[in-house]
Amino acid sequence: MTSFQLTRPQQELQAEFRGLAVKCFRPFAGTADKLADLPPGFLEQPPIVVLTHALLPPELGGGWLASTGRHDLSDPFLRLILNEEMGYGDAPLFAALPGLGLAMPILQAFGTPSQKQRVFAPFLDQSRHCWAAFAMSEPSAGSDVSALSTSARKEKDSYVLNGTKWFIGNGLRADWVVVFATINPRLGRFGIRTFLVERGTPEFEASCCLPTMGFRALQISQLKFQECRIPESNLLRTHDTKAGFDGGIMTFQQFRPTVAAMALGTARAALEQASELVQQNGARHSAARRWQNIRENLDFFKLRLRVARLLCWSTARLKINGKDNFAQVCMAKAFCAELVMEICAFAMDVAGVCAVTPDSSLERFFRNAKAFDLLEGTGDMQRLMLTKHLLRVSEPNEALID
Ligand SMILES: Cc1cc2nc3c(=O)[nH]c(=O)nc-3n(C[C@H](O)[C@H](O)[C@H](O)COP(=O)(O)OP(=O)(O)OC[C@H]3O[C@@H](n4cnc5c(N)ncnc54)[C@H](O)[C@@H]3O)c2cc1C
Repeated sequence: MTSFQLTRPQQELQAEFRGLAVKCFRPFAGTADKLADLPPGFLEQPPIVVLTHALLPPELGGGWLASTGRHDLSDPFLRLILNEEMGYGDAPLFAALPGLGLAMPILQAFGTPSQKQRVFAPFLDQSRHCWAAFAMSEPSAGSDVSALSTSARKEKDSYVLNGTKWFIGNGLRADWVVVFATINPRLGRFGIRTFLVERGTPEFEASCCLPTMGFRALQISQLKFQECRIPESNLLRTHDTKAGFDGGIMTFQQFRPTVAAMALGTARAALEQASELVQQNGARHSAARRWQNIRENLDFFKLRLRVARLLCWSTARLKINGKDNFAQVCMAKAFCAELVMEICAFAMDVAGVCAVTPDSSLERFFRNAKAFDLLEGTGDMQRLMLTKHLLRVSEPNEALID
């Protein structure tokens, strides 16, 4: 890949994903938001069945899509195209699909064959849907992971977990949870280890679905561990110093570009609606100065959407070429999350009072938008990490311009 022009097969996939977003995600988005759950009939749609299966790891038969050929889902470009279109459809519904989600990279990298076999077992059961969750955030440790206080105490051949996790996506429905805990809080990031906890383990309670402003279909949950005993064999191979922490960072580094792409897709959807409203009401406003301002803003946002997409795609291009994409990932995540909030606010302004009715999708986009900033590291943290990274690399300009 030497340019940002999509190949013909990529363009075909993009069109296919867009169709899926409009036909299979959009019609269920409002109900999912109201129910804070997956609406009846959503998962049973044949294209959703295919997509859900494709998102599973290769060990479970997933990892590729067969539509206009055989497409490898580990291709970073394909992932970005998919996530952008799913954001255009409905990001919370996409994030709530059954599967391993955020837990997958760490399990793939640090799970032993027997651990993977145990975690994968329920996913082989075709008669029901299964989820895994990734439990890092705590009431007093969000951005600063090294401050987490959920503890893991070694006792003979077990570990005993104590603590509370919150804002855990799909936590309530998860069959397995990857839990970040510390063996010694004084060690900071060096004390962090990751453990597999199965639903139903005594003294592990996935207690409540937090009543969040947006991303409600994701069932953002609180998990409690009170003297929760798990076998030593549930410790992922993160017993090396800092490997637990690094596993989290590796996961974020992998998912941040896709969060950015989802934000971009949502922003596109909101801007499209704003644009349609402007066209519909254009004649009415044609004499007004407001009309001119809105048009100028629309054009400016369209330009920034293009910049956002180029930033996202540059993360994939660098990765495919085996180059460091850390700076681009930070920039894409921060830029797209900020843009989606601005565009959703603008679209609400354009729509006026109609946008604040409960059935308006603009109102839903607006409530979802903030999550893109929070998820997997806030914009502030991206900017902080970018600055540190640029101070570290010898040629900062090279890190910025690929
Ligand atoms: C939809 C959604 C899904 C989520 N899913 C998961 C999940 O599956 N698993 C999971 O573990 N977590 C999940 N989270 C939690 C998410 O990772 C945290 O919200 C995020 O890490 C930020 O933590 P915090 O909200 O505690 O904010 P804090 O860390 O308390 O930060 C508060 C504010 O201070 C700023 N700030 C903090 N530190 C600094 C600093 N050093 N310099 C400058 N500014 C700073 C932040 O930018 C932010 O604006 C989810 C969150 C959302 C919204």
